[in-house]
Amino acid sequence: MKHNFGPGPGILPHEVLKQAAAAVIDFNGTGLSLLEVSHRSPEFEAVLDEAVKLVKELLAVPAGYSVLFLQGGASTQFAMVPYNLLPDGGKAAYLESGVWANKALKEAKYFGEVEIVATSKESNFTYIPKDFTIPADAAYFHITSNNTIYGTQLHKFFPSPVPVVCDMSSDIFSRKINVADFGIIYAGAQKNMGPAGVTLVIVKDDILGKSGRKIPAMLNYQTQIEGGSMYNTPPVFAIYVSMLTLNWLKSKGGVAEIEKENAVKSRVLYEEIDRNPLFKAVCAVEDRSDMNVCFVAENPEHEKPFLKLCDEKGIVGIKGHRSVGGFRASIYNALPITSIYVLIDAMQEFNPPTP
Ligand SMILES: *Cc1c(COP(=O)(O)O)cnc(C)c1O
Repeated sequence: MKHNFGPGPGILPHEVLKQAAAAVIDFNGTGLSLLEVSHRSPEFEAVLDEAVKLVKELLAVPAGYSVLFLQGGASTQFAMVPYNLLPDGGKAAYLESGVWANKALKEAKYFGEVEIVATSKESNFTYIPKDFTIPADAAYFHITSNNTIYGTQLHKFFPSPVPVVCDMSSDIFSRKINVADFGIIYAGAQKNMGPAGVTLVIVKDDILGKSGRKIPAMLNYQTQIEGGSMYNTPPVFAIYVSMLTLNWLKSKGGVAEIEKENAVKSRVLYEEIDRNPLFKAVCAVEDRSDMNVCFVAENPEHEKPFLKLCDEKGIVGIKGHRSVGGFRASIYNALPITSIYVLIDAMQEFNPPTP
């Protein structure tokens, strides 16, 4: 058995994989594969309805919001957000807390003015900037709740005079949030919700239709809302597996329960990193992520031998992002705490070679 600490596509619950595999052969006793049934069949419509219902239930989505399952990944949302919300000659505000935030704001520049209210670029994004003012004349304010590459996470949201748009790709469903605080929440499924190929978007209906811009159908939230995420053929398999994963989460007690588990998982791992003289964490303590735990070897020459030890123990996906180096343990919802203890054992057992 492998211990999958990969950053994304990330680990999925084993029972979800088994159910998904069975549906590929015979979907709900229809005698057809899930991959060959019509997306307009009552069986698949029930899957999509259930997925939307689970999102609403697990995140307590209030009235006035639409839940969409779209394609193109979070990266398409980088463009779709300003396309829909930013009027010609208007301005959008961005918090630059990492590379994903930077990619998002670059896309917005195609549509209007971008004000970067604060950045931590100078420190290679080892913290989340906290001193900033959100301009009241911006069309929206864009933030990234969890910076997957650097291992920082926004632990507190804040009041905003303008709608807040949040990229929650790597921490959606990991903790309770108040959806009413946001104008748009989006997340590529492949970190914490399902397989690659579908993107969750939760959009407040009344912020739409104000940009005065003509928008192609596929990139228009309004078309997608009216089509119930079925303006065109939706990614049926990715939606099905996301639905199964959300059901798994519900059966575990929902977001409140998983939040407690996630807090214990990250705490024991950070405790070992702080205790063990061979390793050190790199990010500001108050911004440490509960989803992506980044750390380095005190001596960079120990990195390779530690990765080798991890490999021997079935620990996979733990090499840090190329722009940061070191290690990154992605400890998403589906990763059991037993895998964390295997990693901690490896850190305690690690006996670096002497030169
Ligand atoms: C992975 C990731 C993305 C990119 O997602 P795609 O679905 O591959 O486009 C964007 N933002 C964050 C925070 C991510 O972790």
